[in-house]
Amino acid sequence: MSFLLSAHSSHYPHEIFMDANATTPVLPALQELMSKVYQTHYGNPSSPHYAGIRAKRVLNDTRNAGAHLFACEPDQIIFMSGATEGINTAVLSVLQSYAGGKGKGCYLLYSATEHKAVPEALRHWNTLLQVEAEVMAIPVDREGQIDLEFLRAHVGDALMICTMGANNETGVYCDLAALEREIRALRSDIPWLVDCVQMLGKRPIALGKTTIDYAPFSAHKLYGPKGVGALYVRTGAPFTPLQTGGGQERGLRGGTENVAGIAALGQIFTWLNDRAISPFQDSETLYGYRQTIIDALQSAFPKLTLNQPLDRSLATTINFSVAGYSSSELIAIFDAAGIRVSAGSACSTGGARSFVLDAMGLPTWQSEGAIRMSFGPAFSQADLDTLCERLTFIRDKITGANPWGQGALYIPDPMTSGSAWIMCRTTQQALALTDSPDVMQGIESCCPETDWQIQVWNKESQDFAGFRLHREANGVRITALATERSIQLTDAGIVVAHTPSPKLMAVSEFNCEQMTFIDVREQSEALAQYHEYPSPCLQTIPRALWCDYVLRAEPEGSPRPIFFCRSGNRATEVARLALSVGWQDACACNAAASEVFDWLRRQKTPVE
Ligand code: PLP
Repeated sequence: MSFLLSAHSSHYPHEIFMDANATTPVLPALQELMSKVYQTHYGNPSSPHYAGIRAKRVLNDTRNAGAHLFACEPDQIIFMSGATEGINTAVLSVLQSYAGGKGKGCYLLYSATEHKAVPEALRHWNTLLQVEAEVMAIPVDREGQIDLEFLRAHVGDALMICTMGANNETGVYCDLAALEREIRALRSDIPWLVDCVQMLGKRPIALGKTTIDYAPFSAHKLYGPKGVGALYVRTGAPFTPLQTGGGQERGLRGGTENVAGIAALGQIFTWLNDRAISPFQDSETLYGYRQTIIDALQSAFPKLTLNQPLDRSLATTINFSVAGYSSSELIAIFDAAGIRVSAGSACSTGGARSFVLDAMGLPTWQSEGAIRMSFGPAFSQADLDTLCERLTFIRDKITGANPWGQGALYIPDPMTSGSAWIMCRTTQQALALTDSPDVMQGIESCCPETDWQIQVWNKESQDFAGFRLHREANGVRITALATERSIQLTDAGIVVAHTPSPKLMAVSEFNCEQMTFIDVREQSEALAQYHEYPSPCLQTIPRALWCDYVLRAEPEGSPRPIFFCRSGNRATEVARLALSVGWQDACACNAAASEVFDWLRRQKTPVE
């Protein structure tokens, strides 16, 4: 149990979770309900005794609430582990009758922006059953709507069509009634799956009044637990169980039901049936929230571009890119300020770009730099206020302050370039090592208030602002006068040739009493750090000041220095630089600052 305890020991009070399209936290009311179910409705719903009957009642109540919400019959709802299972069940149900090459020459159509569970399920069952159909994406337009011409041209030879109610990355929703008219005008019989995962709680879904054949849902997208969901199946649609067993769900889905999870799902359905008793905001309020967030984002990032049509997308999803920032930079900036966002689908973490935005034909920089900020309908005015306060904080840090204000030695790319300058605040003088444009621009960004005197170094040797510069055959030697530590700077950066790589430490090895923590993240990310560093953390050093720091800091006698950054690359470089100028000890760590701080806080306040 210790791993659970340590995970629970921090309640992450400063976290603003803006990744609701990936998943949502379980609402306290649902946690309580589930805990009650575990205590009182622990029976197996298939048992004939009263404990079993009580559990069975939970399933029936949820089914009835779902039937009311979807305007369908209770037995059209089958409980499952989530949407992925629902999608696989639907695909298997349709394809099993085409097994053994009977689908040759036919299409399995899906919209190009579909969650990958859909095309993957189509490919998987097509191959496994040897259907031999062609899995084909229906293109979408710039606004994410499917190409109806393409659909009309291919639906005649299709075995199945899969579309989505609302897209998980962009929030773009579909006019299902209009699409239904198109599909049914051409093929009254074609099995039609609509992925309704992101629609639940956000768009009306009267499934029983449509000709949709299959509609999968997942409870965790609307404050329920993970691992439970449902599949709506139209009466008369082909059906084959994905798993068989003890006859549960009238033999349609074997396996003892997740009673507590289904109870939570039932409560969610009940809230959606009567929003007045629910914790959910009405859609007008949510649209208002979205606009307020967009305004705050635009104020922090004036070059922000939206990647979705606002009038055809959910109130709870904002997808944007910012010229000049990659999505990983933006995620890191938001993360530092305690705002959790994603670069698109949670399932595509690590992918360099968004296939959804690519399918919509957006420019590469938008697709590569996309950020999805999503919230759920239980988002409150207080949540909004906190979020906007953080966004204002980011804005002030990024656009306002002059982060390079102090006098110091600046080497912006110490490992790859010889560009460098020294600034002296007291005399308002800057010494440029060369007159190259990047050095001049760098000095200007350090002192935008301008009346600094800039000289270009043209001597053999010179002392300036606590440093000695000395020309050598292979560049320049820069020595800190106070410590006598020095570096050799060449056109290709600092020479650290014979210095061994520093030890890479894990966060779990940290001991806040015996170590000093030095944050070497990118400047914009470190600036956005919202919460104060737990006390033993020494400071943040931007890349341009790494050399200044290792030359002038006084590590000897102080606790063991640990440099950290998310990838570990920068941290390793600075630690190596520190060792190369004579530090006795310097370690690197590849951990996100939030993780480091969280660990340090927990060490200071251990769990009972
Ligand atoms: N479909 C969509 C649109 C989704 O957003 C998701 C979840 O990310 C899924 C399907 C799969 O849901 P689950 O992982 O809960 O099975």
